[in-house]
Amino acid sequence: MFGVRAGRAFDGERVMPGGALVLLDGDGIVGVEPGSAPAPDGCEVLEALGSTVLPGLVDAHAHLCADGTDGSLDRIGEPGEDAMAAVIGQSLRRHLAAGVTTVRDLGDRRFAVLDWRSPAHGGGVYPAVVAAGPPITSVGGHCANMGGEAAGEDQLRRAVQERAERGVDVVKIMVSGGFATAGTQVMLCQFTLGEVRAVVDRAHAAGLPVTAHAHGLPAVHMAMAAGADGIEHCSFLTDKGVAQSAEDLARLAEAGTAVCPTLGMAGILVPPPNAAAVLAKLGMTIEQVMEMRKRQFGHMHAAGVRIVSGSDGGIAAAKPHGLLPSSVAFLAEGGVSTVAALASATSLAAAACGLGDRKGRLRVGYDADLLVVDGDPVADIGALARPAAVFASGRRLTAAA
Ligand SMILES: [Zn+2]
Repeated sequence: MFGVRAGRAFDGERVMPGGALVLLDGDGIVGVEPGSAPAPDGCEVLEALGSTVLPGLVDAHAHLCADGTDGSLDRIGEPGEDAMAAVIGQSLRRHLAAGVTTVRDLGDRRFAVLDWRSPAHGGGVYPAVVAAGPPITSVGGHCANMGGEAAGEDQLRRAVQERAERGVDVVKIMVSGGFATAGTQVMLCQFTLGEVRAVVDRAHAAGLPVTAHAHGLPAVHMAMAAGADGIEHCSFLTDKGVAQSAEDLARLAEAGTAVCPTLGMAGILVPPPNAAAVLAKLGMTIEQVMEMRKRQFGHMHAAGVRIVSGSDGGIAAAKPHGLLPSSVAFLAEGGVSTVAALASATSLAAAACGLGDRKGRLRVGYDADLLVVDGDPVADIGALARPAAVFASGRRLTAAA
């Protein structure tokens, strides 16, 4: 048995006054005691009184096949299988170093990430992986080079069937074009409502949730109307800016849709050509758009919409793997309380990944995924980016891992 005692604790939902002593045995949490509780006889304890213990973070949106350089999605078809495995392994290690112990991959190259869901894979300490395989997209559509093109309801249903047979955890569909793929239209839909419904219905029949990538207003509306379980980016974007109505937010809140805004940046994003064209139309800089999006999701959260944190890590130099603490900080800067922002990256993200019964909380019986950070992220969200210790399934990340 091993213990972690911290002067402050966040259990995935709320602050635990007085901190906590979290007891780990093997890959599970076997005790969550008050901070002042004595440790069991013979139990080694990591004493971290100036620190905060919280559940390992859950990044609900990453691209492990992308190496975190500009243009990496465009080049995703290039590496051979061994080189791709090396990229995935390095991506996961970067997440873990930042305290992310669960990663949901929402777009790989031809199912390359699925093997990494086995804890034995790679031979080191890695985050748990939830995977969608290649996103379903239109012919020549957003991220078509990942291998998920389909046209018409029959092909779309077959694409879902193939994913179910391969054992994906979630189906991802690109309902609008994307900023990272030249030639696609972020404001427009890539499919008809009937086609997206066919995907959602077929996936649900197979017991799989669906999350929909949607930037433009019509695409967000289409994802909502089709009954998608989650919406990625959820930008409600028009040529004149964000157009999210109170009615739309009430519908999203009522449906319980998991909205992942993919906020967060490391440095200044170099806009790819598609994004530069949209910025020109909006008459805004990338920094102004980021400020707009922080406020947008602050409003969305205040309206009761379920917000989960994800980074879109891997797609650009300013979107590296391990960016999630910045995604959480952006939410807080948009007006979301730090406690709610932390929940978006722990208990709520775990639930959106289908792992709400064993990840994202400090609770007996849950997986021994822990993050210890220096300082108090409830008072200063920047502390989330100062990991002092990380445990994944009871195994501590060391510098050598
Ligand atoms: Zn993405």
